[in-house]
Amino acid sequence: MKIVKTVAQLAAELNQNKGSLGFVPTMGALHEGHVSLVKQARQHNDRVVVSVFVNPTQFNDAKDLEKYPRTLEADAALLEQAGADVVFAPSVEEIYPNKESYTITHERLLALTSVMEGAHRPGHFDGVVQVVGRLFDLVRPMRAYFGEKDYQQVAIIKMMVAIDKRDLTIVTCPIIRAADGLALSSRNTLLSPDERAAAPNIYKVLAGIRIAIEAGERDYRKAEKEAILQIDKNRYLCTQYIEIVDAVTLQKADQTTKDVRICAAVMCGAVRLIDNV
Ligand code: AMP
Repeated sequence: MKIVKTVAQLAAELNQNKGSLGFVPTMGALHEGHVSLVKQARQHNDRVVVSVFVNPTQFNDAKDLEKYPRTLEADAALLEQAGADVVFAPSVEEIYPNKESYTITHERLLALTSVMEGAHRPGHFDGVVQVVGRLFDLVRPMRAYFGEKDYQQVAIIKMMVAIDKRDLTIVTCPIIRAADGLALSSRNTLLSPDERAAAPNIYKVLAGIRIAIEAGERDYRKAEKEAILQIDKNRYLCTQYIEIVDAVTLQKADQTTKDVRICAAVMCGAVRLIDNV
């Protein structure tokens, strides 16, 4: 496995080999969720490139960016085991030499980015679309792997690929959870023991809504309200949103919606966690 830090080194590395290329973009502080993406990519492709880049343009909160965990050495060890061929770990200057900024203008993208995460984290998806576009241009993969953990993100990336007519396949991978149900996240390492003990309640409540919907519940607004009350009963948890949405359009689901997704963002102490079922 090679670790490269510059665009020039990456290009040199990619030029050496032909065959199918799988790509897994990450922000590092890797865990079994990321590893599952790399393993999928390993199965499907001749070569696997993983990027480790904490993208500043997708952080709407400077403190969140500052405290985001950075563990490149441990990440490299995990990636080697998972079967990555190339790790691209660039500096911010390498990705944005001219301090570029980006704003989404396409209407079909705005429909997806203006809700949920986009509504609560202004500018977040502008940064996500910017960095993923840049990384796709540099890596030119045949397939790229994303986790369903960031459900809205995958929908947006798929739309971006369709709008730009990019010649690559987006592969969505299931959410990997801890034994107690908490979705694995790099941010989980920032939780205190008490917060970590409280965090699995988020998934418990989401799973409860799923059961209710499967049993015929169709008053989605009532279900959202009750779930928020249930989560916020825990002193460490404070819900930002729970939304039962159309799984494709991400707009609020109603009784006519065929396929629904239950999405949540919850503050656990000072750490913002997201999950969905
Ligand atoms: P991040 O490093 O948080 O930007 O995540 C990089 C990729 O890993 C994204 O596509 C995430 O959706 C995915 N990912 C993060 N956590 C999980 C998880 N628990 N299960 C599956 N995929 C995940």
